[in-house]
Amino acid sequence: MSVRPSEHPPPFSAAEFIAEPTDPPDERIDVGVLIVGAGPAGLACAIRLGQLLEEQPELAAALGDVPVAVLEKGKQPGSHEVSGAVVNPRGLRRLFRGTVATQDMPFYGEVEAESVYLLRRSTAIRIPAPPTMRNHGNYVASIAQLTRWLAERAEEAGATVLPETAAEKLLLADGRVRGVRTGDKGRDRDGRPLPNFEPGSDITARVTILCEGTQGHLTGVALDRFDLQSGNPQVWALGVKEVWKVARPLRRVIHTMGWPLRAGAKYREFGGSFIYPMGDEMVTLGMVVGLDHRDAELSVHDLLQELKTHKLVRRILEGGERVGWGAKTIPEGGFVAMPRQLHAPGLLFCGDGAGLVNVPALKGIHYAVESGRLAAEAAFGALQPGRTPWAPGGLQAYDEAVRESFIWKDLQQVRNMRQAFGRGFYRGGMMAGAMTASLGKFPPGNAKTERDADQPLFST
Ligand SMILES: Cc1cc2nc3c(=O)[nH]c(=O)nc-3n(C[C@H](O)[C@H](O)[C@H](O)COP(=O)(O)OP(=O)(O)OC[C@H]3O[C@@H](n4cnc5c(N)ncnc54)[C@H](O)[C@@H]3O)c2cc1C
Repeated sequence: MSVRPSEHPPPFSAAEFIAEPTDPPDERIDVGVLIVGAGPAGLACAIRLGQLLEEQPELAAALGDVPVAVLEKGKQPGSHEVSGAVVNPRGLRRLFRGTVATQDMPFYGEVEAESVYLLRRSTAIRIPAPPTMRNHGNYVASIAQLTRWLAERAEEAGATVLPETAAEKLLLADGRVRGVRTGDKGRDRDGRPLPNFEPGSDITARVTILCEGTQGHLTGVALDRFDLQSGNPQVWALGVKEVWKVARPLRRVIHTMGWPLRAGAKYREFGGSFIYPMGDEMVTLGMVVGLDHRDAELSVHDLLQELKTHKLVRRILEGGERVGWGAKTIPEGGFVAMPRQLHAPGLLFCGDGAGLVNVPALKGIHYAVESGRLAAEAAFGALQPGRTPWAPGGLQAYDEAVRESFIWKDLQQVRNMRQAFGRGFYRGGMMAGAMTASLGKFPPGNAKTERDADQPLFST
């Protein structure tokens, strides 16, 4: 017997998350540009806006007391980020335009060496790193630390960053996005107000920029509302990560494929693991697995525990202790699942929320930063005297800039890779090799993606 999760949808009504402003006009908080999400995308956007507004102080003054605000639902910027990562510094270098040297960015250091292994239960065969997984010139960072540092730069650039403030509803009026309504604070689990209760408020803006990261709920309702979803559905992977204090330094970046995932096409298990050094004393390791797997009992958390028993990994962790862990999804639909358009009247989408992730490279930070920067430039252009950001095509410049950017070129080249692995590890691997060798020209066209929730699940 098999069952499709899509036959049992969770109770969710998009209409509950779209509203007209309800606070009286004199009680609304009015800002110039409102950014939702203080991750790499939102903060890069705030930094670029600060740079541009510094060059045009009269526009900053016209935007009011708060020209740029960033809302973050976490306790502080970075608290919802899941630790170690290998970062392509390209986006950050373009953002800071030579004002911050790469060695002054909060990195543990440049990738010194790397290995890719094909694992079986008791063997580890080293294979050449596929071009998409090569990390020469990239840097190891803690995403949480990088995000905190970006938040400091954004505040220095004049942005107001508001932590512990969730954007709950998208405010719409006269066919355009007007801002967001923030969630109430201080309610108990059953929704009853506590003594510290504070009601949410309407925050209105001339441009709203959604940088919510993976599975942002306002991003989802806005894409539906403005009919911007791609013809190919978005799909996701779950990444489970741990941070370890270790007895011996690890001097290389490691990726693995194969075990503990099963290769058979019927299991549809796509993913792998990574182990990155974080300085001399720590490493981060994790498993990332596509959520279109078919075994209902498969648990990515358990797979990571199993991986740690492999002699390759055990040797690295021996004598160490786990100091943290976390889990988060990654949008994996890639180029073909990107929204048809990255703007709506008064609204822009950036980063993971727009699906800007290179799946074979396991990288999204530099696309988040670059898209945030480009969104800032488009918003700044649309705020110039005589222009209206919510007029038809008012923010079209953002779509054009993304199409001209390295984001588009990179994602187009790897556009069919994730889909190929739906046919099993070996067939997917061969197709991925052909796509890499032909720089994305073979196979031509765009592969179809199937929704994760449409995969029939079985029990083993
Ligand atoms: C296991 C794992 C490993 C990864 N490894 C790498 C790697 O090595 N290199 C790499 O480049 N990328 C890596 N990535 C991907 C990378 O983390 C993302 O691409 C990147 O963080 C995207 O940035 P973002 O700003 O779009 O979103 P996020 O970093 O997710 O930030 C979004 C922020 O918005 C906040 N938010 C969301 N909704 C709301 C709301 N409604 N109101 C207020 N705040 C809100 C969230 O709390 C969060 O702080 C990895 C991801 C995972 C899960």
